[in-house]
Amino acid sequence: MTTLTKTEGAPPPTGSNAFLSVRDLRVQFSTEEGIVKAVDGLSFDLERGKTLGIVGESGSGKSVTNLSILGLHSPQNTTITGEILVDGQDVTDVSRKEMESLRGNKMAMIFQDALTALSPYYTVGRQIAEPFVKHTGASKKEARARAIEMLGKVGIPDPKSRVDDYPHQFSGGMRQRAMIAMSLVCNPELLIADEPTTALDVTVQAQILDLLKDLQQEFGSAIVLITHDLGVVANVADDLLVMYAGRAVERGSVREVLKSPQHPYTWGLLSSMPSLGSDVNEPLRPIPGTPPSLLNPPTGCPFHPRCEFAELVENSSRCVHERPVLAEGRASACHLTAQQKQQIFIETIQPRLG
Ligand code: SF4
Repeated sequence: MTTLTKTEGAPPPTGSNAFLSVRDLRVQFSTEEGIVKAVDGLSFDLERGKTLGIVGESGSGKSVTNLSILGLHSPQNTTITGEILVDGQDVTDVSRKEMESLRGNKMAMIFQDALTALSPYYTVGRQIAEPFVKHTGASKKEARARAIEMLGKVGIPDPKSRVDDYPHQFSGGMRQRAMIAMSLVCNPELLIADEPTTALDVTVQAQILDLLKDLQQEFGSAIVLITHDLGVVANVADDLLVMYAGRAVERGSVREVLKSPQHPYTWGLLSSMPSLGSDVNEPLRPIPGTPPSLLNPPTGCPFHPRCEFAELVENSSRCVHERPVLAEGRASACHLTAQQKQQIFIETIQPRLG
């Protein structure tokens, strides 16, 4: 079911050059316990050749957003409203068959775990070649040559012989590279990478992120990078969207958000991760409490039960009763004044970050 609803207060982004435009997206799941509001009024734009990082804890709605873009939810229990425009086409309003074709040609996904994404029964080369045959009509010979070419592009040594290996013959890092080759084989214009490096050690993680950057330059793809790790987006993304309880709570360029974050939840994320140069004995500060139930989310600001700064808001009951709106451009959805945000960041948060 796809219907349009009006954005609550927040003007949607202008998005004139956007390759991907998400407008007031709402994704709800019907469960035996009730309706889960997994994404609740999300809008953002992404241009070709740019990377948008989406960060948040699990349950924040980031992965659900991306499965919606790819049309991968079960239609039985899912209601999606709003618009997801990919190159101007609303993908919430296309047939299953059209979606399958779009998934091969225009957009592709890199999953967190290559082991589950690659079949153990087929060679790596065959799995890279198959979507190429399906979406371009290439011959098997051409597709094999393309698979070898792609394995070379993602840095697999001796691709001509490794093309006939099975996934278990590859290391974890090589499997992740092979999955990236599979995702890029049809030159997708939009690439969705969901925690693409989480399962890898730090060195391989850095290599894979560098590879994504290089391939983006070559292919000019727009990339949505989903992660819980602000360190990953700092290295790769151009813009950043911080999500909490199915909503965007802060957005801006990566530089702006990491240099002067404005939202108490973003402060919490930053304080809970180790920073370069910080004392290894310095304890990390996890965000107090747990992410809210999306079956019955808190009223007002969804972060209020965990927020240590709510009492600084003039008439702090606003945090409990009034949902803060995320304005257009560089913005955060919080009732604190701009001056308060700046002062708290400088006096309280920066010392914690070291
Ligand atoms: Fe905290 Fe209130 Fe801002 Fe929400 S609106 S983040 S509860 S200060």
